[in-house]
Amino acid sequence: MKALIAILLLAAMAALGIPLFRFNRKRRHIARCVAASAPGQLEGIYACIDTFCASSPGGYVLARGNAETDEARCLVPVPEDFSGFPWSGKVIEVTSHKEVEFHFVDARVSAPTLLGRAYRIVPVPRHKGRNIFSPRRLIQNIPALRPALSAVCPAYPEDLLSYLLCAGSASFEFDPINQARIGLAPAWIQSPEKPRCDQCGKPMRLILQLPGTVIHEKLFHNGTFYLFGCPEHPRQTRSVGQCS
Ligand SMILES: [Zn+2]
Repeated sequence: MKALIAILLLAAMAALGIPLFRFNRKRRHIARCVAASAPGQLEGIYACIDTFCASSPGGYVLARGNAETDEARCLVPVPEDFSGFPWSGKVIEVTSHKEVEFHFVDARVSAPTLLGRAYRIVPVPRHKGRNIFSPRRLIQNIPALRPALSAVCPAYPEDLLSYLLCAGSASFEFDPINQARIGLAPAWIQSPEKPRCDQCGKPMRLILQLPGTVIHEKLFHNGTFYLFGCPEHPRQTRSVGQCS
């Protein structure tokens, strides 16, 4: 009887363990491909998306790069050509001493820097429908994308795109709460809590969404943080944080 229980336990452990082992192996493989890629290769992937979204993107995501930077601050520049967005051209500093705070600062930066890493601002197409971020859909719509992805990671091009566009997660599984977003709609961990403007009472618009993992080495990793502002009164801003 004891032997039977031991065999059943071993079988259960194997059933759980093998998929997890495969998942981690695939995750490490994709991360290694990104780390080993030449800067021009990632840029080639992002340039395909740039071309596709050339006319009036709906917003942007911060995509992974493989370059480090000397900039110690967490700085996110809002693209200057983001039309109809009152905060375009501004630079947002994110601080995380006791809590996560957003400040507009006078700084000149060419790319977002978070925890010593540089990111690439990638436009998101202005589409109706819910799957605008779906890596599969992007690959279907942009013929040049699959070869550019395969050049970096021949085994898993689609999962690579998920990994690149979800800066906040070490996984290749696509989850919107792990995206760093400029503009666009917020992806909520809990129920939506869109703030309203103190001055006019209208719902505010998302300026920036950042997963906790890109803000601090250790803290806030179970949270996602949002900065909102009123399009009619751009000085009116409010930050929101949600935890899982
Ligand atoms: Zn207002």
